[in-house]
Amino acid sequence: MRTTTRDERLAVARAAYADVPLYDPKRSPVALDLTDNTNLWGVPPAAEQVLRTVTSPVITRYPSLYAGDLKQALGEWLGVTTDMLVTGCGSDDVLDSAMRAFCDPGDGVAASVPTFAMVPIFARMNDLVYTGITEKEDHTLDVPALLATGAKVIYVCTPNNPTGCVTPLATLREVASQHDGVLIVDEAYAEFAGVSAVALVHEFPRVLVVRTMSKAFGLAGLRIGYAIGHPALVAEVEKSRGPYKVTALGEQMATAAVRESMDWVQEHVALAVSLREQLADALRARGFAPLPSGANFVCVPVPNAVAVGQAMRARGVAVRPFPDLPHIGDALRFSVGPWTLLETCLAAFDAAHAEVNGA
Ligand code: PMP
Repeated sequence: MRTTTRDERLAVARAAYADVPLYDPKRSPVALDLTDNTNLWGVPPAAEQVLRTVTSPVITRYPSLYAGDLKQALGEWLGVTTDMLVTGCGSDDVLDSAMRAFCDPGDGVAASVPTFAMVPIFARMNDLVYTGITEKEDHTLDVPALLATGAKVIYVCTPNNPTGCVTPLATLREVASQHDGVLIVDEAYAEFAGVSAVALVHEFPRVLVVRTMSKAFGLAGLRIGYAIGHPALVAEVEKSRGPYKVTALGEQMATAAVRESMDWVQEHVALAVSLREQLADALRARGFAPLPSGANFVCVPVPNAVAVGQAMRARGVAVRPFPDLPHIGDALRFSVGPWTLLETCLAAFDAAHAEVNGA
């Protein structure tokens, strides 16, 4: 991706943005997109019902300031009070706002590598110093090295994107108990793992658990994320986030999903988990060694992953290639969806792998 040079930038542009490229992967549309780990089964029925019955004030008037109804529904579901919740325009917005809330320019953000690609970008956008600490060979966190960075914010994604590996609660507790700053636990895929760090927020006032309605809840297009933490921690993120970040339609649809469609969500989470294992078995049967995943995707080491990904794209199927991951090498990440889609994906993968790697 081309970065604008300093000379080409307007004199008024913020210095910290000089080396920040616009996030724009320029992905062309494709018949079957298995790149973004969204819910390929559709929209929770209660949310769809809201869409059918919505009246014009939902569009013409401003939304609620801080998504109070959605917080009420999320709080009842998660067993926390509404002052322990902050919402945002996707969990991207919550992560970005949290960094801004807790860090002054020049402060550090540390994360285990590999992890969610937006984290270093949000750090740079907020004029923070990002340090990536390579995970251990068994895909666990290098806790002493993360702590030794002295970063104000330590970010841990579990299940991790892109590996799918789950960090045990004991490890999160170890980090939280020794870290002076804020521990952000990104649980975008927690529903598929069946374990959550939400309980830690009652033990540690500086743990912020960030979650999303883009994955298990099938609402990625509405852009709704949230976080759970001690009221004083959450209040700072709320300030940093600002008002009106969740649309009125988004709030109503998400609230309905949480209140009335949890059965649908749980049913499709269970389906995704079982198909994830079926997909991993199919890859193992082909001689590959997919990483253990607690998410709705499977990460599998594949030689020349970028070229294989391109050859799959040429066949109408997109998966996400990751070149040269530490301890892993080249890998492909496959989102899990209905089995018919995964069969199409596997057929494209077989043909692409044969074409590129001569297997
Ligand atoms: N965290 C992780 C680990 C993700 O994979 C994603 C989306 N790819 C996000 C956060 C952001 O999701 P959203 O902004 O849609 O909530």
